[in-house]
Amino acid sequence: MQDTSHAADRARDCWAHVLTELRKNVRADQYATWFVHLRPIEMSKDTVRFSVPNTFYRDWLQRKYGDAIESAIASALNWQPRISFTVDASAGQPPVETRRGEVETPMLNPHYTFENFIVGQCNRLAHAASLAVAQSPGAAYNPLFLHGGAGLGKTHLLQGICHALLAKKPDTRVLFLSCEDFMNQFISAIQHGSLEAFRAEHRNADIIAIDDVHFLARGESTQEEFFHTFNTLYNSQKQIVLTSDRAPEDIATLEERLISRFKWGLVSRMDPPDFETRVAIIQHKARLREVRLPEDVIHFVAAHVDSNIRELEGAITKIAGFATLAERTVDLLLAREALEDIGPAGAPITIEEIQNLVTRRYNVKLSDLQSKKKSKSIAFPRQICMCLARHLTNHSLEEIGGYFGGRDHTTVMYADEKIRQLADKDSELRLTLQEMEADLKKKK
Ligand code: ADP
Ligand code: MG
Repeated sequence: MQDTSHAADRARDCWAHVLTELRKNVRADQYATWFVHLRPIEMSKDTVRFSVPNTFYRDWLQRKYGDAIESAIASALNWQPRISFTVDASAGQPPVETRRGEVETPMLNPHYTFENFIVGQCNRLAHAASLAVAQSPGAAYNPLFLHGGAGLGKTHLLQGICHALLAKKPDTRVLFLSCEDFMNQFISAIQHGSLEAFRAEHRNADIIAIDDVHFLARGESTQEEFFHTFNTLYNSQKQIVLTSDRAPEDIATLEERLISRFKWGLVSRMDPPDFETRVAIIQHKARLREVRLPEDVIHFVAAHVDSNIRELEGAITKIAGFATLAERTVDLLLAREALEDIGPAGAPITIEEIQNLVTRRYNVKLSDLQSKKKSKSIAFPRQICMCLARHLTNHSLEEIGGYFGGRDHTTVMYADEKIRQLADKDSELRLTLQEMEADLKKKK
């Protein structure tokens, strides 16, 4: 009896990890419609079976989301099971209301709030501008244009603005949509002769937040429509917020008149997070998910996944999923096993490579780095090595210390902090570190 309920608990945990993963790859409104109430009735490495209320539900899930479900299971649990559906009318329709007593805006992901957004050097300006827009929409920066690589928090900030406005004034007409939605809705309005309704909806919003405008296709009537939507909203001082994976002038398909409009307000770039910000984000995400991560694991993840916040989240999901499956507590060993296959491209950077580079650049001997010598000409390059090793390899502090004459972990931590503090003030050192990092990565 106890075994059965234990197995059920484990299946529930596993499914929760899969849902977390799915949530990232499926739009919030679609997630609310299809997945909030979906539960497997069987869940093992070989088979995952769902019970659904009717064949329509089954076909739709299979066709539209089959791949998403499979890849979420693969990335959360490393399983490749057969997925099947059993139609059971008594399973009942999922309720339309998703949460009692709460206003849900289906297009918005409830987690993408300002409270859940960690601010670092990489996104400080974009964040401050978003706050200002949420405070005085239509007045502070209009339009606000956020751009940056994938997974750096553009959609999160965009929705953060929408959430903040709704929290302040629940009847604000917020229109959040992807650029693709805009185009699809427009095309469908033309086909169905409902252009009036389309315009009424888009041109009467208090704020229009359009995600990923780099998808705006050239030469089609959509750009024309977008242009007029923009003008109407702008002229009536409604807020416009846009995101893109690159700056307006770099979107090759964009008409000149749109490029120039996109630059009327504030254009802000978002960069990949630095180590400290990555650590803060991991801590925050782990807390949200009630996953306990020891400090060395947090540092390991921050060193391992360094360019994309979505991947940081994926790493946490993977570690948590792995721990549940293996019924182990999370430690460095487990984290390494869990992330084995999502390492950075190419072979990992080794401490020997760092030592080679640093000894050449600073003209010191390896034996000196490993000695007890404390003169500045030796201690400084040694500290550089430790700092680079901490950020670019997966070794623990203790292991790094081991490569430098058996120093303990506090020495490594101190060295790392010291070099980073110096680099903060000294642009030449900062550049040297960047060059060395690029050098080490280039060889991979
Ligand atoms: P983008 O739209 O730039 O591709 P997203 O906004 O979808 O990126 O962000 C990817 C994931 O990373 C989301 O789950 C988001 O919550 C998270 N994320 C991004 N930036 C931050 C941040 N500064 N603090 C906390 N979470 C973040
Ligand atoms: Mg996005």
